[in-house]
Amino acid sequence: MAASEADPVEVLRRIAFLLERAHEPTYRVRAFRAAAATLAQLPDAELRLRAKRGTLTELRGIGAVTATVVTEVLDGVEPAYLAKLGDAAVAPLVRGGEKLRALLRGDLHTHSDWSDGGSPIAEMAAAARDLGSGAHDYIALTDHSPRLTVARGLTASRLRDQLRVVAELNDTLAPFRILTGIECDILDDGSLDQDPALLDQLDVVVASVHSKLAMPSAAMTRRMLNAVRNPHVDVLGHCTGRLLVGRDGGKGRAESRFDAEAVFLACKENGVAVEINSRPERLDPPRRLLTTAVEIGCLFAVDTDAHAPGQLEWQAYGCARAEECGVPTGSIVNTLDADALLSWTARAS
Ligand SMILES: [Zn+2]
Ligand SMILES: [Zn+2]
Repeated sequence: MAASEADPVEVLRRIAFLLERAHEPTYRVRAFRAAAATLAQLPDAELRLRAKRGTLTELRGIGAVTATVVTEVLDGVEPAYLAKLGDAAVAPLVRGGEKLRALLRGDLHTHSDWSDGGSPIAEMAAAARDLGSGAHDYIALTDHSPRLTVARGLTASRLRDQLRVVAELNDTLAPFRILTGIECDILDDGSLDQDPALLDQLDVVVASVHSKLAMPSAAMTRRMLNAVRNPHVDVLGHCTGRLLVGRDGGKGRAESRFDAEAVFLACKENGVAVEINSRPERLDPPRRLLTTAVEIGCLFAVDTDAHAPGQLEWQAYGCARAEECGVPTGSIVNTLDADALLSWTARAS
């Protein structure tokens, strides 16, 4: 597309996407996303008039930097901010895993602004559909469950509302598909933090431990076994809970201790996929456990756990890790097309 035909809203979103891809925290990218959201609502004529008069910054969410970007786009020049991002913005994030990445059809773990993600469902879906590293056919929308209040976990009622919103979006996005889902907390006793009847309606259930990560190994093993044996569960999310780096670059978090062989064996027996969580601060499971899961013969899902559109590119990290640890391509469930994937998630329930 020539610069003169570029849409300022798309350019702002593109900048945000590239910043997210380059590991910028969501809050730092917010200015671009907020500006895009404001301008998407503005009639084209008013946008042009305000750019001409220099009054864009009177609008909520438009600052000096974003106003300059908009003006440059309307003037038909490449925004300096975009140019500054340069080649690094499109260079591969990691070496290895390219073949696997090309085989992936979707992503089974993503968040929207309904819980602790930074962007609306529609923007996450559009980004997944248009990914530069390999467009997806589907994403599972897996916002958090009620007990995770810090992440604005969805009550049953909000999740039901979300299902209606997803159904409407799917009408307009077809053939792309948003699969309904949840990242459901595994409670202390291994039960799941959502109404079973509602879980039954969802396409994809990712179950993860987010609390009491330091409980004794025997109790954690029981807890995880209970979850994995629950027929609603499709994917075991970030199994050790470790963080290589903490929030704001601080200290990380140690792995939870549990009997990995027993848990992975239960995953295999129950057809639950072990997640290869691609987030750079997680990369969970660690290599030695991922190798164990491969030896046991588990299924896997290479997921981003994206909380912003640009983070959907992070699947590259998980693919590199999967290749490094010899994960067979045929055992990765998100190489399946949407119909085959849904047959798998519907296997037991
Ligand atoms: Zn999680
Ligand atoms: Zn998550």
